[in-house]
Amino acid sequence: MDHSTWILIAEISNFIATLFAIVFVADLLVGFVHWAEDNYGQVHWPIIGKSVIEPNLLHHSKPKAFCKNNWWQSADYQIMGALTLMVIASFGGWLHWELVAVLALAVNGNEVHKWSHRSKQENGKLITWLQDHKLIQSRRQHSNHHSGDKNTYYCTLTEWVNPILEKIHFWRSLEWTIEKVTGVSPRVDPAVLKRQARERAQASTITLPEITYSAHASTVYLEAV
Ligand SMILES: [Zn+2]
Ligand SMILES: [Zn+2]
Repeated sequence: MDHSTWILIAEISNFIATLFAIVFVADLLVGFVHWAEDNYGQVHWPIIGKSVIEPNLLHHSKPKAFCKNNWWQSADYQIMGALTLMVIASFGGWLHWELVAVLALAVNGNEVHKWSHRSKQENGKLITWLQDHKLIQSRRQHSNHHSGDKNTYYCTLTEWVNPILEKIHFWRSLEWTIEKVTGVSPRVDPAVLKRQARERAQASTITLPEITYSAHASTVYLEAV
C-alpha cells in the first residue's frame, strides 16, 4: 500500500474513533445528569425541584407515567441546557462539530429512555430493531436501573457505556469522593425506602409463625416430659 492509502486508513480510523467517543461522552453526560438528579436532587429546590426532580421521583414509582410526554416535553430542559453550553462554548471558541454532536445526542437521552419503557408494539418496527440489535439501549438493560436500589445503569442512550461504568464502580466512587469532600451523602430513593420498609414488615410477619411454632413445640415437649 502506498503512503496516501495509509493516510486514508488512518483518517477513517480516526473518524470512527471520534464517533465512538462522541456517543460515549453523550451517554456519559445523560447518565451523569440522571445520577445527579437521583442522588442529590431535592423537590424543594427552586425551579428544577418541581419541574425536574419531582417527575424523576415519579418515574421511579410509576415508570410508565412519562411515556405520555411528547418529544418536546421529554427534551425541554435538556435543549435549554445544551443551548446554554453552546453559547458559552462559542464565546470560549470551542464550539466544534463534536460538541454539537454530543449535545444533539444528549438532548435525546430522555426520548430514548422513554422507548425503554414502551412495549414493542408502542415502539414500532424501527425502534424495536435498534433495541434488539443493541444500537440503542434495550428495554432489558434499562430494567436494571429500576431494580434493586435503583442506583445503577444511569445512562439511557446506549447498551455499552453502562457495563463499563458499573465494572469500574464509577458512580459509587463519585459518591464516595463527594461525601469525603463535602460531607453530603447520596439520598435513597423514596420508592426504595418504601420497598425496604415493606420488606422489613414482611420479614417480621414471617418470624411470627416460627415463634408460635417453637412455643407450641416446647409446650408439647414439657407436656411429654
Ligand atoms: Zn433514575
Ligand atoms: Zn426508566
